[in-house]
Amino acid sequence: MFARLHLVLFSLLMLLGQYTFAVEQTSYKVENIKDNIYRFSAGHYHSAFMIVDKVALVTDPLNSDAAKYLKSYIKKTFNADIKYMVYSHSHVDHAMGGNELIDKNTTVVSHKFAADDLRLNKVPTALPDLTFTDTLKIELGDSYVLLNYYGPNNGRGNVSMRFMPANVLYVVDWIVLGRMPYKNLIGYDINGMLSSTKAILNEPPFAVFIGGHADTGNRDDVVSYLHYIEDLHAAVRDGMLAGKKLSTLQKEITLEKYSHLKMYQQWLPLNIEGVYNNLVEMGYFNFRSDIDAQF
Ligand SMILES: [Zn+2]
Repeated sequence: MFARLHLVLFSLLMLLGQYTFAVEQTSYKVENIKDNIYRFSAGHYHSAFMIVDKVALVTDPLNSDAAKYLKSYIKKTFNADIKYMVYSHSHVDHAMGGNELIDKNTTVVSHKFAADDLRLNKVPTALPDLTFTDTLKIELGDSYVLLNYYGPNNGRGNVSMRFMPANVLYVVDWIVLGRMPYKNLIGYDINGMLSSTKAILNEPPFAVFIGGHADTGNRDDVVSYLHYIEDLHAAVRDGMLAGKKLSTLQKEITLEKYSHLKMYQQWLPLNIEGVYNNLVEMGYFNFRSDIDAQF
């Protein structure tokens, strides 16, 4: 009897052990991208930071554990205080952990809409104490960061950050290099993404691009990304105008030109669904009398 009980307990422990073993550990990594600009990676998430003498300007904290890791890394490696923390946008998968990253005297910065969202949604992270609406320049010694808002694209108050003089651009979620945009584009404004990405390409050229996910790249990579979004958007829109159902569009649209992108096979049908839903929810395609289709 005891032997049997032991066997059961043993099997249970084995199962639990296997389960614990299967839980993925987040891996952290810091890379020097150019001059005084660094990319911090926590699993599939990235943020950027800048070091000037004994002072740091950090961006998205990502989450509590990642923020603790980054703060101790910056203290250990650069002996630097966190002077500024700048949120790219309001979404919690990038904005949590703010309290773990800041110092006592850190100025927390975001676009006004991102600050409003964090406050209204009672997000348990450090709330911004400096906000802006169009552009903001933050100076740190002989370096500076230019923040720019180009209108809605993903989340609220999602801004680009240009680190100067290194000329490194950091954008989260509305430009993704080397990988398909995330699944069914939850929280995206497809028309806004098109216009924001075009606006970035109309700015003076940048040396290196850092995204909140996937690869770093250059201006040509951002142009290729824009082409993907334009082609995806046009294919779904024109299919809808021709009265086609979502399932038909998912069968017919292949966009093979982009099959080199990571997650192409898995996420293309979801990207199509994302644009379709966006055109219904934000473009009111279901109210259009010129379209002969059931939505
Ligand atoms: Zn994201």
